[in-house]
This record gives sequence, C-alpha cells and structure tokens, in this order.
Amino acid sequence: MAKTTIIGSGFSGLAAAAVLAQKGHKVEVLEKNSTIGGRARQFVEQGFKFDMGPSWYWMPEVFEQFYQRFGYTTSDFYDLKRLSPSYTVIFNDSKVDVPASVSELAALFETWEPGSAHKLHQFLDEAAFKYDAGMNTYVWKPGKNLLEYADMKVFKSMFKLQMFSSVSSQIRKLFKDPRIIQILEFPVLFLGAKPANTPALYTLMNHADINLGTWYPIGGMNQIVKAFQSICQEVGVSFKTNTTIKSFNYNNSKITEAIDQNGNAHQTDVVIGAADYHHIDQHILAPKFAQYSSKYWTSRKLAPSSLLFYIGLDTKIPDIHHHTLFFDADFDVHADEIYSQHTWPSDPLFYVCAPSVTDASIAPSNCENIFILMPISTELKDSKQQIAKYFKIICDRIKKKFGVDISKHIIYKRDFSIDDFKLEYNSYKGNAYGLANTLDQTGPLKPKMVSSKLDNLFYTGQLTVPGPGVPPSIISGQVAAKLIDDKYV
Ligand SMILES: Cc1cc2nc3c(=O)[nH]c(=O)nc-3n(C[C@H](O)[C@H](O)[C@H](O)COP(=O)(O)OP(=O)(O)OC[C@H]3O[C@@H](n4cnc5c(N)ncnc54)[C@H](O)[C@@H]3O)c2cc1C
Repeated sequence: MAKTTIIGSGFSGLAAAAVLAQKGHKVEVLEKNSTIGGRARQFVEQGFKFDMGPSWYWMPEVFEQFYQRFGYTTSDFYDLKRLSPSYTVIFNDSKVDVPASVSELAALFETWEPGSAHKLHQFLDEAAFKYDAGMNTYVWKPGKNLLEYADMKVFKSMFKLQMFSSVSSQIRKLFKDPRIIQILEFPVLFLGAKPANTPALYTLMNHADINLGTWYPIGGMNQIVKAFQSICQEVGVSFKTNTTIKSFNYNNSKITEAIDQNGNAHQTDVVIGAADYHHIDQHILAPKFAQYSSKYWTSRKLAPSSLLFYIGLDTKIPDIHHHTLFFDADFDVHADEIYSQHTWPSDPLFYVCAPSVTDASIAPSNCENIFILMPISTELKDSKQQIAKYFKIICDRIKKKFGVDISKHIIYKRDFSIDDFKLEYNSYKGNAYGLANTLDQTGPLKPKMVSSKLDNLFYTGQLTVPGPGVPPSIISGQVAAKLIDDKYV
C-alpha cells in the first residue's frame, strides 16, 4: 500500500483521503490554512458563524452516498432541512417566493404564461433523464480520453443529452415569460458560464433545483466539513494544517517528497494535487513536469470571481427568506460584463443568504447573519473604492425591497474579493469556483486527473472532472482515489 500525500483539504481532498484510508492506504493531508475545508471554511466573530463559501446544499444524495460508503447516513452528522420556499427572486417590479413543491411552481408559471405548467413537467422529465445519465455515468469517468465516452450507449445518449445545444436555447424554445426564463436559467450560474455557452446537458441542474430541492444543514454548511473530517479521522487520515507546499523533490519520473514553507520534507509514494490545479501545475512543479503551458492556462475560461460580504446585523430583516436572488437588474448585461467585457458591473445582480432565518445557532438572538455574493470577472483589479461603492449599492437595493437599511445595523462586516481568493487559496486569477463548464471544457477536455509527466501525481478538485460545486468536488475526490487504489493495490 502506498503512502499518499494530499495537498489541500477542500471537499475533493477530504473525499479522496477518506476513501484511500478506508482502503488501507496511509494518507496525510497537507493544508496551507489553519483550518480545513478549503472554500467551505467557517469563521466565528462576535457570536456569528459565517460559512465562507458554499451556501446552497443541492443534490443531497451525493452526500448521502458518500456517508454510506463508511456505514453512516446524513443524519448521523447533521440535521438536514429542506427549505420552503426554495428561494426568493427579486424582479424589477415583484418579489417571487419559488415554492419547493413542483406542482405549486407549475401553477405559478401557468399564471405567468398559459401552457407553461405542462411544458415545465415535460422540461423536468428531460432534466431528470439527463441528471440520471449524468450522475450515474459521466461524472464518475476520470476524463482520461475520449474513448471513455466511446461506449455506443453513452455516445447515443449524448444526442439525447443535448450536449450540442445550449441551456439558453433549450429553455427559450419552450418558454417566453422572462421570469420563467430567469428562474430556469439561474442554476447555470453555479457552472460559471453564460446560459448561452453552457451545454443543454446542464439543464440537469433544474432537476437538482426543482425536483430534488434546496437543503440546509443546521449549524451551517461547515457541518459537512466536520462530517468529512470525523470520517477521515476514524479511518486514520492524518492532517497537517499551516503547511504550504512550495516544491517537490523527484527521483526520475516520481515525486519523492513535498517541501513545505519551512523547508520540511514530507516523504511520499503518491501525490494528489487537491489545491487549485493551476497553482500546482505552474507554481509548485518543476517547469519540465508541468502538465500544461502558461498559454494553455491563459486560454481557459474561468468561472467568475466573487465580491463577498459577511455581515452580522443587530436586527432581523422582516420577510427575508434563507436565499434571495436580486435579479432586479439586466442579467445579460451583468453576464456580459463578467464574461466578455471584464468590467465592474454597471448594475449588478447579487445574492443574499440569511441562514439565521432557518438556524438560530449561527447568530446571537434577534440578529441576522448575512452573506452577500456579487459575481465579478476574474480579470478585474481589486479596489477598496469599488468594494465600498458596491456595498452601498447593495444596501440601497436591500432597503428598497425589504425596508431595512442594513448599513445602520452592522455589528460585524468583512469583505472578501479577488485578492483574498488568491491569498487564501492560491486561486488562479482569484476564481471562486474553478473553470467554466463550457462544451470545450467538459469531461475529457478538462485539465487531466492523471499527470502524463510524473508517474505518481494525480489531480482532483473543481478545476478537473467533473467540475465546480461541492457535490462534483466530492465525486472528483472519490474518482481520484479509485485511480490510485487501482494502481497501487
Ligand atoms: C463564494 C463561493 C460560493 C459557492 N457556493 C456554492 C454553493 O452554494 N454550492 C456548491 O455546491 N458549491 C459552491 N461553491 C463551490 C464549492 O465551494 C467548490 O467547488 C468546492 O468547495 C471546491 O472544493 P475543492 O476541493 O476543489 O477546492 P478548495 O475548497 O479550494 O480546497 C483547496 C485547498 O487547497 C489549499 N491549498 C492551496 N494551495 C496550497 C498549498 N500550496 N499547500 C497546501 N494547501 C494548499 C487551499 O487552502 C484549500 O484549502 C462556492 C464557492 C465559493 C468560493
């Protein structure tokens, strides 16, 4: 059995660690930050517990399947609540609570566009087919080469899966009402590209949204990290935090040691790069062992970065639900500014999470815990003036819709933007969630999990297969672990 060193303790690294250790491998996780969990860390300030990254718990069966590998079920770790309404969408002239029940949502759509209820069911049947095919087949492939997809059954289904048209055209073929279109296109924002550039395969996300639902683990999203950590510890994974890997030592085509910021050498038989792929490829490896050129990386389309605010308020916000999407601005203009113009948004869309609406344990009583996310281009230069300007815009928009001037109720406030992503996670260009899921960056066209330059180097995480998001990262870690377990029995 091989000793595996995993660089990075996000979900992909933790999932890989737990599976390999369960199979009997010796596993050590090395993490640069002082706490584990990567982009899903949590910090506590003045009685508020802030989840730093993910806030939408989708695809609950991916988590459940992981826990079952170790003889557990989700409720062994946390109390998972389905949110109802699933979320609120703010349009220019209305505020819509998106119901958790499909039939209620269909009835709502019908009031906006006659005939759309029936079409929604038809659309969701297709989305469910894609979800099942995608989640049972595609996402578990290591993306080594196109041959993995050459199986006739899989190949034929690629047409049924609508790999070659876009989410946007699929939705607009069926629906005309702009509110319906926005609600159905919204999940694509998780995939880091415009709906017009995202393969229609990904309407599978609508199945995840509407049929499978939006959930929340009481205690916060970091409860998932704690669950993974306790499984890792039970199967014997060891952790070293405050350990930043800077370089490797090699013997021919093998890494023999990972060298940290203090010059300590961590002996190893196998390495999994679970930090941002670009960082390992371009900044830790000796240049001759890099999998890709800097030109390749420059040509990649990244998911956006984000301007984030973590805010503790000394008041509650009446009528706010757990998740609120501020779509009271032009979606296409903002998307264009993120992906094409690379400018600061002229009139931003943003998202407000108020988990203290659902969970009293994460804020002092009568206080609100608020997380705000505004997607921005990774090509921007961070600026304190811009951050202050957008905070004011966001406060004004919240006041207009909910009647509370949150700027007058702040107990705690922290912002987090492009430079923080770079500093805290060694994130390429400050991306928040990896590479965009465009057709030319899907499956075998993503950066490869298996190094072709070094015999014992593997990659996992949101920049390789299957892609960004917590559930895909959990799957990515399991796929990488299988590759290693198969090779080093
Ligand atoms: C603001 C935000 C909101 C999001 N919202 C959602 C959501 O609602 N739902 C959802 O499903 N997903 C969401 N995501 C995406 C999801 O959080 C990520 O896709 C996932 O957590 C990535 O996991 P990972 O293992 O690939 O990487 P990471 O979590 O980034 O882990 C990589 C780790 O490597 C460490 N590292 C880097 N360099 C080194 C080094 N040299 N040595 C040692 N360690 C190193 C980093 O410190 C980090 O801990 C969101 C992400 C962000 C940022």
